[in-house]
Amino acid sequence: MADNISSQNIDNDHRELNRRGLLFVLSSPSGAGKSTLAHMLLKADREIAMSVSVTTRPKRPGEEHGRDYYFVNGDQFEEMVADHSFLEYATVFGNRYGTPTVPVQQSLEAGQDVLFDIDWQGTQQLYQRAGQDVVRVFILPPSLEELRKRLESRNTDAPDIIESRMQRAVSEISHWDGYDYVLINDDLDACFAKVKQILATERMRRSRQTGLIGFVRDLMAE
Ligand code: ADP
Ligand code: 5GP
Repeated sequence: MADNISSQNIDNDHRELNRRGLLFVLSSPSGAGKSTLAHMLLKADREIAMSVSVTTRPKRPGEEHGRDYYFVNGDQFEEMVADHSFLEYATVFGNRYGTPTVPVQQSLEAGQDVLFDIDWQGTQQLYQRAGQDVVRVFILPPSLEELRKRLESRNTDAPDIIESRMQRAVSEISHWDGYDYVLINDDLDACFAKVKQILATERMRRSRQTGLIGFVRDLMAE
């Protein structure tokens, strides 16, 4: 498998910003707050675009096809798998989820970083394919009791679904050590400030600042 996403013809070095785009992953057990944080980040930062996933799960009230997910049936999903249309894909809660490759390439080519709300399985696959461009952030709830409260207050799932999400939470949390950063989402604003801080710092990494080479060469030639 390719170890760099640019081997898939992503010209990820030639950006207006003069830095390589990064793939910013937010994962958490369901209900810990990653969608909330993702929406806040998209609103606050114009240099990052959301990767909209494809899923076979039913649409929740308020969700929009093309904005929250691309909702497809099982056959359509398997067709996309066969066509190698996914950068990564996995089964979560019995439903299929996948990240379409082309929009990610387009965002990087347009000079934007890409934000992913995907689970640990997808994060592992993304890391295998594009390791050096991936920044992995795991969000923990302050307690399981608070996690249950948030799932209930979100008002989107039936009690049996909430129960199965709670049961999965512990196994999802066990993957915390596959991430670069781990944050506890107790106070939302404080957690969001840390997310922004991580992104800002990662953007400054020398390896991502491709424009520096020319700048330093000119500086030394002065
Ligand atoms: P996830 O995307 O991880 O499944 P959501 O972002 O949908 O979780 O959050 C679950 C619920 O918890 C939502 O109703 C959201 O408004 C709420 N929530 C998120 N973060 C916090 C927080 N720090 N404190 C209190 N409620 C929160
Ligand atoms: P939900 O159904 O609550 O929107 O998402 C359930 C879980 O699936 C979450 O952990 C979410 O991060 C994950 N998920 C959403 N889209 C994708 C995807 O494209 N790939 C993978 N691997 N996981 C996803």
